[in-house]
Parts: sequence; structure tokens; C-alpha cells
Amino acid sequence: MNQEFSFPMPTLARSPRGLLIEQVALADVAERFGTPVYVYSRAALTDAYDAYRRALGARRSLVCCSVKANSNLGVLSVFARLGAGFDIVSGGELARVLAAGGRADHVVFSGVGKSRAEMRQALEAGIRCFNVESATELERLNGIAAEVGKTAPVALRVNPDVDPKTHPYISTGLKSNKFGVAFGDALALYRRAAALPHLRVCGIDCHIGSQLLDSAPMVEAARRMLDLVDRLAGEGLHLEHIDFGGGLGIRYRDEAAPTVGAYLAPLLKLFEGRPEELFFEPGRSLTGNAGLLLTRIEYLKPGEEKNFAIVDAAMNDLLRPSLYGGWHAVVELAERDVPKRTVDVVGPICESGDFLARGRDLAVEEGDFLALLSAGAYGMSMSSNYNSRPRAAEVLVDGQEVHLVRARETVESLYALECPLPSSQS
Ligand SMILES: *Cc1c(COP(=O)(O)O)cnc(C)c1O
Repeated sequence: MNQEFSFPMPTLARSPRGLLIEQVALADVAERFGTPVYVYSRAALTDAYDAYRRALGARRSLVCCSVKANSNLGVLSVFARLGAGFDIVSGGELARVLAAGGRADHVVFSGVGKSRAEMRQALEAGIRCFNVESATELERLNGIAAEVGKTAPVALRVNPDVDPKTHPYISTGLKSNKFGVAFGDALALYRRAAALPHLRVCGIDCHIGSQLLDSAPMVEAARRMLDLVDRLAGEGLHLEHIDFGGGLGIRYRDEAAPTVGAYLAPLLKLFEGRPEELFFEPGRSLTGNAGLLLTRIEYLKPGEEKNFAIVDAAMNDLLRPSLYGGWHAVVELAERDVPKRTVDVVGPICESGDFLARGRDLAVEEGDFLALLSAGAYGMSMSSNYNSRPRAAEVLVDGQEVHLVRARETVESLYALECPLPSSQS
């Protein structure tokens, strides 16, 4: 890590006590709770949410945290207390939101594969809106709503097919992927939805991709949605809200991520004077730079071509590097007076793809702690038990306080639902 690198995480700082998050020394957290351990900053979570609220000002709007980015109850409870909404993609996520104190009527439910049971659960909870992704889902939802004696609030997730040539980083808003309904089919589907007796058409939704560093594609998608909204209004179908999904990117390394204010400004301009409530579903931009993963170096292993720092965290804890080449800054907790070495930071898992970072210059010795930064989104929520590794603990730091918000898994819990063949079986 070169000296000029400034931390992308706002509540992280160097001090004589080593690296601090808020007022807590990360080395103390590592010693007390063991490693690997995820550490989140309440102040950073709060600031990220407030940035949306500030940018939206008095505009009627709902900021729904994407639960899939970070679904820890402690983290969700921070947002729930701030009055946030939640974007869920499963019944499990709905249960988490409610357990964390979130309001059901602030929940929007996305996803292409909602099951009957999930629809029932969400209708009974009284969620704000179903983001419906296909014609058959509309029919199924209508049927389930009839069964439970409720009216289902729906938005159609449209696929604005924003030009990939100008914006190659967009990954979910193209014709070629599984999400949403084709733009050309939307009008007919809205008419169909309006005719179904147990649905109440209330909005329109899109989610065009992730880690977006520029608002242009979002604005283009918004223009298309507005067009549709006005056409529907012309037919007497007035939508109450427009949901722009998530997608705002963050700085991991040297990305020029816009501020929330700058990102939303052209969008808010486009909607000036319009009556619709605006929904957003940010994930990464709320939690990404509010969390990190602490790990300890087990071995320093020199090699002919490469040197390795073998750490006690692995791809099962933080999948992004292996899965799609995600880059996380690696920072030493203590500044040591030893020569730097260039290492690949790898885990103990039996896969060559088990790496967390490559070619980093670190001044470290065996036993030292490292922090993998910007790991608050799509970190723990994508973790697994591969290689029978208990998942990491999670702690939430609040000023000087440290709350354990998920205990480290025990090995026994990993196979608690399994059993060997009965002994009567030869
Ligand atoms: C993943 C997802 C989000 C959050 O995306 P980020 O890029 O993390 O902001 C929001 N909405 C939907 C439908 C998603 O699938």
C-alpha cells in the first residue's frame, strides 16, 4: 500500500494505538473477538444514509437499504432506527428486516423468483410494494392475494435497455439478462395488472446495475420510465412512485465515485415539480465503506515467483476478489519497521482461486493483523461455509463502544442439521 493512499472508509484513521475505526483500536477488536471478524461503523452507516436524506431534502421519497448487500440484524437495526425502508429479495430477508425492527410498510420486494410462500408472507406482513418482474408473476401474485384476502401493491420492474456501448458497466438493465420486463411489453402488462382484481398498481421500478460511477445511464433510464409513466397517466393509470433501484458505486481504490448529492442531482432536476414519490434501493453505497474484514497472518510463505501471506480469512468469508476480481485495500493494523514485501494475500481454502488480494506491498510479520477495507457490502452476506469453515463474527462499533452483532459460528453448528446413516444400516 503506498503512502498516498487515503482510506476510502470515512471513519478509519491512523493513531498511536494503530488503526482506529471511530474511537476503537481495531487490534483490540481482533484480540477480543478473534479473527476473521467483520467490523462495521455505526457512524459511517448513518452518514451514508444521511447523505441520501440530505440530497433528497423535502422531496417525498423512501430510501430502501438493499438487504442483500448486508443483512446483519445489527446493521439493519441502525437503518431501521433512521426510518429507512428496505429492499428485499427473499422471505428470509423480510424476516430479518422485521427482526431488526424495520417497518413492513417500508419494504419493497424485488427478485425474479418469488415463491408462493414468500408472496403470502409479504402480503401478510403488509409490505409497501412488490416489484414484479414477469407476466406470470403478476398472475401468481393476483391469485395469492385473492387467497389471503388482500390487495397486493405492485410496481413493474422494467428493463430500460440502456445502451451498453456508452455505458459498458451496466449489467442488469439490458435486454439480454433475466431481470425485469422488456420495455416494449410494459404498457400491455400495466393494462393487464390494472385489470386484475387483487392487485393495486402503484409504481414503476428499475435497477440497471451496480458500482455505477456516473449518473448518465440512470438518467437515461429515468427518462424512459417517465415516458411510460406519462403514457399510463394518459390512459388513466396514475403511478404513485418511481423506484430507481440501487447501483451507486463507491471508491475501493482510486475510482472517482460521485457523492450521493452529485449522483442524484440530475435525476432530481428531471423530476422537479412532479408528484411521484421517489424510491431508491442503495446497497453498496450505504454499507460498502462502513465495514472491513480483519484477519491475521498465519504464515509468510516465500515462493520462487511469488510470496504469499497466508491469512485466516478466505474466499468463503470475502468472495468478491475470487468471484469477480473485486479489489480491496489491505492495510496493516500496526505500522512496523520491517522491510516491505510484495505478497499475494491468500486464504487456507483448497482452491487456487482463494485469494483476497494480489501483489500488495506490506510491512508485516507472521501473526500480524490486516484489514481488508470496503468490505461492508457483499462481504459477509455472500459468505459460505466452504471447507467447513465457521463464518466470521461481526461487530458494530459505535463511538467507543463495540457490539458483537453476530457471534462466530461453531463447528458443531455447521453440521447440526446433518446426521450419519443410522447404525442399523450396513
Ligand atoms: C442488488 C440490488 C440493489 C442494490 O445494488 P447496489 O449496487 O449495491 O446499490 C438494489 N436493487 C436491486 C433490485 C438489487 O438487485
